[in-house]
Amino acid sequence: MKRHLPGPATSAGPTPPKPRPGFPARLVSSPATLAAKVPRTVATSPAASARSAASSRSPGPSPQAPSGTGMDSQAVRWAMVRKLEAQGVSHPAVLAAMRTVERHRFVDSALANQAYEDTSLPIGLGQTISKPNVVARMSELLCQGRSEKLGRVLEIGTGCGYQAAVLSHLAREVYSIERLRGLHDKARENLRGMRLSNLHLLFGDGMLGYVKGAPYAAIIAAAGGNDIPDAWIDQLAVGGRLVAPAVTGSGRQNLVVIDKTATGVVRTVLEAVLFVPLKSGVA
Ligand code: SAH
Repeated sequence: MKRHLPGPATSAGPTPPKPRPGFPARLVSSPATLAAKVPRTVATSPAASARSAASSRSPGPSPQAPSGTGMDSQAVRWAMVRKLEAQGVSHPAVLAAMRTVERHRFVDSALANQAYEDTSLPIGLGQTISKPNVVARMSELLCQGRSEKLGRVLEIGTGCGYQAAVLSHLAREVYSIERLRGLHDKARENLRGMRLSNLHLLFGDGMLGYVKGAPYAAIIAAAGGNDIPDAWIDQLAVGGRLVAPAVTGSGRQNLVVIDKTATGVVRTVLEAVLFVPLKSGVA
C-alpha cells in the first residue's frame, strides 16, 4: 500500500525568504553518494527533458561522464529513479522528468539531505511535499498509454511546486493552483530560475478548478476531500483523465481515477493513500 503521510505542522506562518538551499556536502543515507561524480543537471526546458528522455535508457550515470567538482545531486537523483523503476514506474517521460527535476531545491536546506529518499517532507504551513513514489505514480497515471506530451494540465495544490515542475516536463502547459498564499509565494521562489515557461502558478481556491484554462487534458490533485468536486469533472476534456485522492465507500482515502469519455465518466478506485485535506477558500 502506498501511503502519503502528512508531515507535522512545522510553521505557523509564511516562511521568511531564504537563500536557495545548496545540495548538502554529505549524503550519509544513500549508497549513490559513492557513485561517480557528475556535473549538475539543471531542470530547465522541455528540451532538457527530451534530452534527458533520450538518455533514460542508460542504466545510470555513465562512467565516461566528466567529473564535476564536489558532491553533486545527479547521481543520488538517478539512484532514486532506479528505485522508482524497481517499484514499477516505467513510463519513459515520467522517469526522465523525475531524473531532471532537482527535488532538493523544493525543500528547506535542513531537509535537503532527505530529498531523494522516498518520503514526504514538511514544506511549512502544515503541508507536505509528496513522496517521489506518489508523484511518479500519479504522473504515470496521467500519462498512461500516451507517448506524446499531455496538452493542458491543471494541478490543485501547488505546495512547494515540485509536482508542478515534474508536470511541466510532461505537458505542453500546466496551471497549478494553491490556496495558501505563503506556499504559493514559496513555490514561485523555488521555481525561479528553472525557466519552466509553460508552468503558470495561480493563487486561489482550487476546489473551483480554473475555468479560464478549461478544458484540461488532465487534472491532478495533491489534497483529498470527501469527493471529487464537480467543477473538476466539468473542466476535464472529453478523453481527459483526472487523478486525485478522495474518501471512498470504505470511509478511507483512495486514489481515484476519472476518465471522461463521450458517453460519460468512468471512475476507478485504486490503492489507499493519505494526503493532506482539500480545503475551500484561501488563506
Ligand atoms: N504537489 C505538492 C503537494 C502539496 S500538499 C508538492 O509537490 O509540494 C497539497 C497542497 O494542496 C497544500 O499546499 C494545500 O494547501 C493545497 N490545497 C488544499 N486545498 C486546496 C484548494 N482548495 N485549492 C488549492 N490548493 C489546495
